[in-house]
Amino acid sequence: MTHEYEFATNAVRAGHARTAEGENSEAIFATSSFVFENAAQAAARFQNREAGNVYSRFTNPTVRTFEQRLAALEGGECCVATASGMAAIMACCVALLEPGDHVVASDGLFGSTMQFFKKYLTRMGNPVDFARIDQPEDWLEKTNARTRLLFVETPSNPLTQLADIRALSEVAKNTGAILVVDNCFCTPVLQRPLEQGADIVIHSATKYIDGQGRCVGGAVVGDKQRVGEDIFAFLRTAGPTMSAFNAWVFLKGLETLEIRMQRHCESAMQLALWLEQHPSVSKVYFPGLQSHPQHSLCLAQQTGFGGIVSFEVTGGQEHAWRVIDNTQLLSITANLGDAKTTITHPATTTHGRLSAAERSQAGINESLIRVATGLESVRDIEADIARGL
Ligand SMILES: *Cc1c(COP(=O)(O)O)cnc(C)c1O
Repeated sequence: MTHEYEFATNAVRAGHARTAEGENSEAIFATSSFVFENAAQAAARFQNREAGNVYSRFTNPTVRTFEQRLAALEGGECCVATASGMAAIMACCVALLEPGDHVVASDGLFGSTMQFFKKYLTRMGNPVDFARIDQPEDWLEKTNARTRLLFVETPSNPLTQLADIRALSEVAKNTGAILVVDNCFCTPVLQRPLEQGADIVIHSATKYIDGQGRCVGGAVVGDKQRVGEDIFAFLRTAGPTMSAFNAWVFLKGLETLEIRMQRHCESAMQLALWLEQHPSVSKVYFPGLQSHPQHSLCLAQQTGFGGIVSFEVTGGQEHAWRVIDNTQLLSITANLGDAKTTITHPATTTHGRLSAAERSQAGINESLIRVATGLESVRDIEADIARGL
């Protein structure tokens, strides 16, 4: 189905193998194990001489439908679904790195990803260095003879800085490393990293793919060998796989992903323009604005600007908290990619564990607020933010 149909069609239909019951909506295969015709078939399945389901930690038809659909949307050969976005990142690193292999990652990563790299990956014998997201030269400088993996999240959270995927894929090729892109913020609707030279795409399905804040899940997309063999083999043994129910929720999410992303993007653009002219706002971070230093890279690399808008208020932390505390509609939570607009103060929440020096290095000050636009009316979102401004 991948090559036959266009994106919107694949989002609704790819991977669906209807059962003899003739269901129109995908079935949830809520079963932990599968039965065999006889002992010989059981033996053949266990010895991998016959393809087919054995146990849902290995394969499950609902999960497989989700995997095939996401693979079609990202333009990848293979996808494996995981229990969370972090499980996808962990599986990718553990399955693909040998002890001693070196990693270069961007400096503005999701908090748990940063923690995983610094605390655990290093302990497992994989040193990690951090490079400036927007400076490909810095990535090249940080690589060495043992560098095997480059890891980037673009746009970054919460300052919406972009990495040039094509430039980083050149760095990866020149150093014999692979490029892994966390595509959580854009989804394949706005950005398809594999088409721009990335080797592997990571997703936290928890965010826009679910779209309504219900389930935690993740995925890795890429080629047959690394994803379909190496990462799949690690996951089925180590265990953080996706449940059939969650896969079904994410399948339904993929069906509406494109139209939801359009609304998220439109509202974020409008909100950013409104904030930019507000006298109590000193700075707005949004790649759709002419004032964003990578606006033209964004136009070249993404088909939309995304749903995350960050801004600084004029009166410091007290002012930022006043804006957050005076909202009546927005959800005060660090999650994103939800139908419900969320508002958060990064310096004291998602980035609160960093030292003051690290925060200032990352450009996250106490006046900063991050909004992830949902699907409500943007006029109501603006009015809610205006209360405390
Ligand atoms: C949330 C998030 C993750 C982790 O995903 P979980 O599903 O929470 O494990 C990874 N990367 C980014 C960019 C995220 O926003």
